[in-house]
Amino acid sequence: MNEHSILAPSASPRWLSCTASPAFIEEHERELPEQDTRFAVEGTIAHDKAEQWLILGEEPQWAEEELDGGMNHHIRGYVEMVEAIGGDTQVEVKVPLFYLPGQKGTIDAATFSPDGKTLYIDDLKYGMGVSVEAKDNTQLAIYARSYLEHTQWRGELPELVVMRIYQPRIIGERPTRIWSVSYKELIELTEPIRDTANRIVAGRGLVFAPSEKACKFCPAQTLCTAHTKSLFDEVAEVEVYNNPEEIPTPLNQVIDISFPDAALLSPEQRAQLEAVRKPLEAFLKKLGEFNRENPPPGYGLKPGRGSKKWKDEEAAEKYLRRQLGKEGAFSQKLLTPPQALKALKSKLTDRSIKHLEAMIERVEGAPLLCTEQEASKALAEEFGD
Ligand code: SF4
Repeated sequence: MNEHSILAPSASPRWLSCTASPAFIEEHERELPEQDTRFAVEGTIAHDKAEQWLILGEEPQWAEEELDGGMNHHIRGYVEMVEAIGGDTQVEVKVPLFYLPGQKGTIDAATFSPDGKTLYIDDLKYGMGVSVEAKDNTQLAIYARSYLEHTQWRGELPELVVMRIYQPRIIGERPTRIWSVSYKELIELTEPIRDTANRIVAGRGLVFAPSEKACKFCPAQTLCTAHTKSLFDEVAEVEVYNNPEEIPTPLNQVIDISFPDAALLSPEQRAQLEAVRKPLEAFLKKLGEFNRENPPPGYGLKPGRGSKKWKDEEAAEKYLRRQLGKEGAFSQKLLTPPQALKALKSKLTDRSIKHLEAMIERVEGAPLLCTEQEASKALAEEFGD
């Protein structure tokens, strides 16, 4: 197995539980669907800016679209968090991984407190889709232990290791999440990581262990029988086979999936199905994309609905003005409050902000279904707990 690209710290939530996944991904490398790299590009820019800011000690230059997206504001928050420690910070530090020293991981920022008693490991997450917790985060624990084992640092061991995620773009959540452990605890909780990595490299006792956490970012999701089976097991009793020759004849012809009437399910069954809604939807989305690229038997492609646009906007405007007059040729819509705030950005003063705020009312959205823990968390946040 190509261990140098597969046991990455960021993928540890997957490979620590689904130990068969690294070999499976490598085996199917050529068939893996292409990854969407748009958000990765934005994340790379954000990390580069943060690195420049921390190393040079001054704000970097921003492109217009970065300012429009508020990147300067988000990165300032991260830089202030790191600088507030007051120690020497190593930025974008590459460390050999403690469980696989031939492979390196990159830590966004590592800082010892001025008294040397606390090590801070900081990770900037610029994504806005999935909120990342610091507590029990194996990626952070791997970074912390690897840093302590393999850097040139030669002081006393820290008493405390503080691991922090700074994720500024999750609406309604605090950007900083913290997980603190003693040095001893860090060693205890990272030892099993080394054992699992050794087992994977040796190819011993590997298992497919599908779960929402493991499969969420697995690049082989659409190819994985264990994952598909786990989803369908929750919904209907459908056998899924890896090898087409194993499929019993009737199923080889048609997989007959029928779904129960939702209103007839018990509350427990509905809760069980709700728990797999997100991975199931993600799976179906990926399946749709994959099928569009590789239509399965019995399916083909037809042109999408598309839309109409003017070939020459200037000529169209002249014609419509002649026919309908200026009023009739254009439709005007009032800006929404967020659009207005953006358009007025350079003109805003404390007074005008207050004036605008007085004109804005909050329209409550329809309640969203969530788990009991999420509901209690939302309630606590609402009351400033
Ligand atoms: S999709 Fe899930 S079960 Fe399948 S290899 Fe990936 S992590 Fe493992």
